[in-house]
Amino acid sequence: MPTQAEQIEQLRWHKFPVLNDGFVCLVDCMGDDAAVVQAARVSYGEGTRRVSDDRTLIRYLMRHRHTTPFEMAELKFLIRVPMDCWRQWIRHRTASVNEYSTRYSVAIDSAQTTAPDEWRTQAEQNRQGSGAALPAEVGDQLTQDEHHFQKSARDMYHARLEAGVAREQARKDLPLCTYTEAYWKVDLHNLLHFLALRMDAHAQQEIREYATTVGENIVKPLFPQVWEAFCDYRLEGSTLSRLESEVIRKLVAQTPDRTPPYTLPEFMAVQDATWRDLTRCRERDECLAKLQSLGLVARETK
Ligand SMILES: Cc1cc2nc3c(=O)[nH]c(=O)nc-3n(C[C@H](O)[C@H](O)[C@H](O)COP(=O)(O)OP(=O)(O)OC[C@H]3O[C@@H](n4cnc5c(N)ncnc54)[C@H](O)[C@@H]3O)c2cc1C
Repeated sequence: MPTQAEQIEQLRWHKFPVLNDGFVCLVDCMGDDAAVVQAARVSYGEGTRRVSDDRTLIRYLMRHRHTTPFEMAELKFLIRVPMDCWRQWIRHRTASVNEYSTRYSVAIDSAQTTAPDEWRTQAEQNRQGSGAALPAEVGDQLTQDEHHFQKSARDMYHARLEAGVAREQARKDLPLCTYTEAYWKVDLHNLLHFLALRMDAHAQQEIREYATTVGENIVKPLFPQVWEAFCDYRLEGSTLSRLESEVIRKLVAQTPDRTPPYTLPEFMAVQDATWRDLTRCRERDECLAKLQSLGLVARETK
């Protein structure tokens, strides 16, 4: 097993590619699993070592959202990301950021491009999400149009610079697909919060690719025990609200004579009273999805 210092040296400045021309790379890392444990033991005292090993303690901290020990580790990244993705990324206010200045320097001459088979339809249910891929012939045309548009925007930008327009003004019509670069430094707690939100299926695919690259390629090898706990309790874990717990209790109580999976009508019969009169109810849909994933309610087959 390589030591933490060796792991950092292997990862430092290694550019993990994302999208057509983006990347993430680790610049620096302070702390490891042991730093989290060390910080926690200060609050619990020496006795903790006897009752719990490091892995158990990390899992306890993660389970109970005892978050400050995770703030003891810090990571610094260099990222190259298209502006529209960056706009989502920068909403995470608990990081320190220094971004490439297109007032000071000519904008990075690279744009995020979309392959013909990568265009996605609007999701039917989720207003913020994507659905299936568009047909290839439609995608071909969209990709060609994208190429012409990006080229013309870039040409206009350069024409403005050549005409003597200031860089801070010439950039105003550059499209959101233009790549930017930034240093991004964040503590482990807030990084995990970012990853939980941006690796989630509800996040846009492009930022999900960045978050997954950061998580799987950098955080996982540097903090193996924290990563394991994070996956178990946050990323792949699930919580039940009071209402959802009540639905399960009622399902079991109303049909004591048989085992799950219960049917959709049985689920609908025990749903929460506040959902009953709604034709569309996201909370009910989410509850159903959870119970289906646990095998408690059967999936409808058409
Ligand atoms: C799937 C998805 C869809 C989204 N859709 C939209 C959208 O449509 N429109 C939109 O505007 N945003 C949207 N967002 C952004 C979202 O609302 C958050 O701004 C973003 O995810 C950052 O989360 P955060 O504030 O928890 O993170 P951070 O800014 O890193 O903050 C971490 C935590 O620190 C605390 N904190 C930080 N700053 C403050 C503060 N000033 N006051 C109090 N507490 C603070 C909070 O507890 C916060 O949760 C979306 C995010 C996701 C993941």
